[in-house]
Amino acid sequence: MTRDMPDVATLVVGAGVAGLAAAIEAFQFGDVAVLESSGRVGGVLRSGRDSEGWLTESAAASFLLPAPATSSTLATIGTPPSLAAASDAAKRRWLFVDDRLEPVPASPPELLRTRLVSPWAKLGVLCEPFAGRAADGEESVSDFVARRLGGEIARTFAQPIVSGITGGDAHNVSVDAAFPVLKELEAGGGIMRAGLRRVRASRAAGVPRGRLHSFVDGMESLALEIAGWLTSAGVALRTDAPVSGIEPAGDSGKGRWRVTCPDGVIETQRLLLACTPETVAELLDPLAPDAASATRAIPRSPIAIVAVGLEADVLADHVGFGFLAHPSSSVEILGATFDSHLYPRRAPEGMGLARVMLGGALRPALVAADDAALLDIAVRDLGKALGRTIVPVWSHVVRQERGIPQYQLGHRARVSVVENELDTLGGVDVAGWAWRGVGVNACIADGVARVRLLHERGETAMLHVSAGKGALTLE
Ligand SMILES: Cc1cc2nc3c(=O)[nH]c(=O)nc-3n(C[C@H](O)[C@H](O)[C@H](O)COP(=O)(O)OP(=O)(O)OC[C@H]3O[C@@H](n4cnc5c(N)ncnc54)[C@H](O)[C@@H]3O)c2cc1C
Repeated sequence: MTRDMPDVATLVVGAGVAGLAAAIEAFQFGDVAVLESSGRVGGVLRSGRDSEGWLTESAAASFLLPAPATSSTLATIGTPPSLAAASDAAKRRWLFVDDRLEPVPASPPELLRTRLVSPWAKLGVLCEPFAGRAADGEESVSDFVARRLGGEIARTFAQPIVSGITGGDAHNVSVDAAFPVLKELEAGGGIMRAGLRRVRASRAAGVPRGRLHSFVDGMESLALEIAGWLTSAGVALRTDAPVSGIEPAGDSGKGRWRVTCPDGVIETQRLLLACTPETVAELLDPLAPDAASATRAIPRSPIAIVAVGLEADVLADHVGFGFLAHPSSSVEILGATFDSHLYPRRAPEGMGLARVMLGGALRPALVAADDAALLDIAVRDLGKALGRTIVPVWSHVVRQERGIPQYQLGHRARVSVVENELDTLGGVDVAGWAWRGVGVNACIADGVARVRLLHERGETAMLHVSAGKGALTLE
């Protein structure tokens, strides 16, 4: 049996980082409620420190600042003192290929010096302005890089980069959907030329260089800080409140929604589904079947993270962000980050912490292996990369079994189906990592933008109603 609860102007379903950022934005347009199915906020962002001082992360471990929506969200809540910029070590990264770690070039001069590709490939990069035009339609990341920068550059870098960012397969991840900035640079004259122009313009405008950040106690702090601000602002943020149904409210059937959760029914003018894509599909099934099946068609790649505690000297020769493994290399892991080189308090004093990633689109089955097997693979492959025997002093395994949403070819069309069908219903939208950007900054920007859009469309609809009434009066 349900009871009615007070109406709200905006109701956000899901208290992951997208939903939380959306709730801050919605606050300026009236009262807001956030309903979260689990007992905590943060969604996949989860950080934990054990009694010895080892810090684990279950999903994002870093985000880049400045980033417009995130920087403005942090300014609104008052930048938490625990925000931590990554050390300069973050600039050094390696690629594990041919059984050795090679530095990844981070600038055009470093690209000219690198041993990772041949002089012919370097010449190909210089010839980028003469690259052929794209055929109509979407293009995979590897096809795009091969067309713009040459086949060898694509074979060397495309897959490791895609593995490192989305755990996907560079041959079927859509560059248009997953890396729209590359298409923008292409349209602006080329990745190299337009990229350098952008860097110079940012410098001239005094925009600080992008730098990775996290929090002293890990990325979950971002969610906790936003949630704290929302609660103190009077926003109703309920955990253990799974939404089980949504339906249009009233006779007009457009623009107002009735939302059912265990505590009762809430009516709202703007409904933002910032929950998991699985929940979105279930909630939309009875109302928007095309949107529900387009949502179900977004594939996900499971991923496991094995955190390995080490004596500090093990990582001493590799002070940097970490490495990605080339798919042709002899290891099964996707790569590893050296967290204790990046942020304070990742490991007990005098110890080192590496986080090893396994699975993804190329080896999804690995994620089902038991903890001991995953640790064995992680330790063996970390040892191969570092060129020494690894004896872990501590370890922790976490799995993202549902995995990271994959923006494969056709993703943008799937998202359009969802957007268009929801637009015809009015007053409802989706936000989060399944749709228009997979990282933390993209989720925050998406939550903010979709709430704004819901508000603007609601205002336009009200104007049409008033204009209609005005016409009747004149008659
Ligand atoms: C291994 C890994 C590494 C990553 N590394 C990085 C990185 O370094 N940098 C970066 O920027 N990004 C990274 N990401 C991505 C980043 O973590 C995600 O983009 C982001 O956290 C997703 O947030 P979200 O709010 O969209 O979704 P979620 O966190 O999934 O939140 C959705 C919320 O909806 C809730 N929910 C579900 N059903 C219901 C219901 N019926 N009613 C109410 N609530 C419901 C869920 O419980 C959940 O809290 C990584 C991800 C993974 C998995």
